[in-house]
Amino acid sequence: MSCFEGRVKELKNVSIDCFENSNIYSTTYFLSHCHADHMRGLRSNFFLKRLDHEAHVYLYCSEITAHILSSENTFSEVLHKIKVLPLGVSSIVKILDHNGSAEDVTVSLIPTGHCPGAVMFLFEGEMGRILYTGDFRLCEGDVSRFRQFHYLDGTVKVIDKLYVDTTFLSRRYQRFPSRTASMSILCNLITSWLHEGHDNDIYIQTAAKYGSEAVFIAVAKQLGMKIHVNDTTYNVYKNIAEIKEAVTDDPYCTRIHACQQYKWPFRSRDKTTILPCRNKSSKLRIIRPCAMTFTSKVYDGSLESAVLQSDDQELFRVCYSCHCSYGELEHFIKYLKPRQIQACVIPQNMEEAGILDLLKKVSRWGNGSSDMPLITVSKKCTKNGISSDMATFSTTALMKQENAASSGNFVVVEEASRGNMPIEWSNDDAEIYRLIAEDLKPKIGDPDAIIKQNIRLEFLEIAACLNKSVV
Ligand SMILES: [Zn+2]
Ligand SMILES: [Zn+2]
Repeated sequence: MSCFEGRVKELKNVSIDCFENSNIYSTTYFLSHCHADHMRGLRSNFFLKRLDHEAHVYLYCSEITAHILSSENTFSEVLHKIKVLPLGVSSIVKILDHNGSAEDVTVSLIPTGHCPGAVMFLFEGEMGRILYTGDFRLCEGDVSRFRQFHYLDGTVKVIDKLYVDTTFLSRRYQRFPSRTASMSILCNLITSWLHEGHDNDIYIQTAAKYGSEAVFIAVAKQLGMKIHVNDTTYNVYKNIAEIKEAVTDDPYCTRIHACQQYKWPFRSRDKTTILPCRNKSSKLRIIRPCAMTFTSKVYDGSLESAVLQSDDQELFRVCYSCHCSYGELEHFIKYLKPRQIQACVIPQNMEEAGILDLLKKVSRWGNGSSDMPLITVSKKCTKNGISSDMATFSTTALMKQENAASSGNFVVVEEASRGNMPIEWSNDDAEIYRLIAEDLKPKIGDPDAIIKQNIRLEFLEIAACLNKSVV
């Protein structure tokens, strides 16, 4: 889960995948994909006010991400400020500062294979070359195929700073099967069960709202049978050409279902169950594509070890990952040899020191320590961060997130006044809030004077509390 705090130091006034706290002050926003941990604050009152009241503040994303946001009713207030950037060509984006002057930055979107619409952002300009990966899975060899990473003569571009998804940066996840291998295992499990009896049906249990579409596409293509999804999900998919062909909103025209999100009570082999989408009892085989369970102790590289069957249950876990394995991540970093690296995810059961250590290990490509990149870790989201769970991306989660986000700064103030600030806070944070407050000082005749003054006072209060708690 991402703990990237949104600000890209090298690009003043830009925030990516985080829309709360001091990010409110940015002028240019980027969204890499539609998972809750990358959308913190996107629906908060602060952020929506900022979009409404500042004419030149925009949110940039890929076409499919924009489509998903427009299909989900909960993001309607953001839609008028979305600007779609195309894949495959570089675009010039004007980044405004608070005095109205602009800096031109070239932005390229690179598909990440993580979920529909997910992209990396490559920024090129006077500040150098910055790559923000968002969540991604590129297999070994993929990175060499993207021309955006290469000069015209084919040599690899110098990346000054890499902000990277380190979800599986752990020796426990040395490798994962290729997507093709995972799909083939999954299709065999489906075919064998459907052939075993006429009452047999399949339920594909997905871990997150978006991220299993490649599975649906592969299954539909290989088995010639669409996957039933619920109406809400179908509304999103029906305008994405390649996914639309793989899914259906008719529960009676298929034996493969993924229509009830997240949980399904386990069933033993012989028990029949009634799918909520239709009045017919079936014997269900549940297939759960997932990666977390498949540590190096479980998955040894063989096809057999990429499947786990639960005892006495018709439940199969198939190793399928939307994030790079340790080996893939190592290959990616060694290929690009960035000058600086910032980890954006703290892997499960790991501390900052462990991540730094592993990143140092995968960054050995020169002869001496002078070739080593500078390595940092994103600030861990703590008390003022919004806890979001990719696996429970639901309306309830979003509601909670919105409430938390809209009151996020008040939480900071309250906690700070009690002397309870998380240890990660430093004088720098207080300084950022103070500078923001300074810049928000309304000028005479400013139509947004009241809003600016209110936010300004709040930020000044936060700065004062932070100073008090740090000293
Ligand atoms: Zn994600
Ligand atoms: Zn169904």
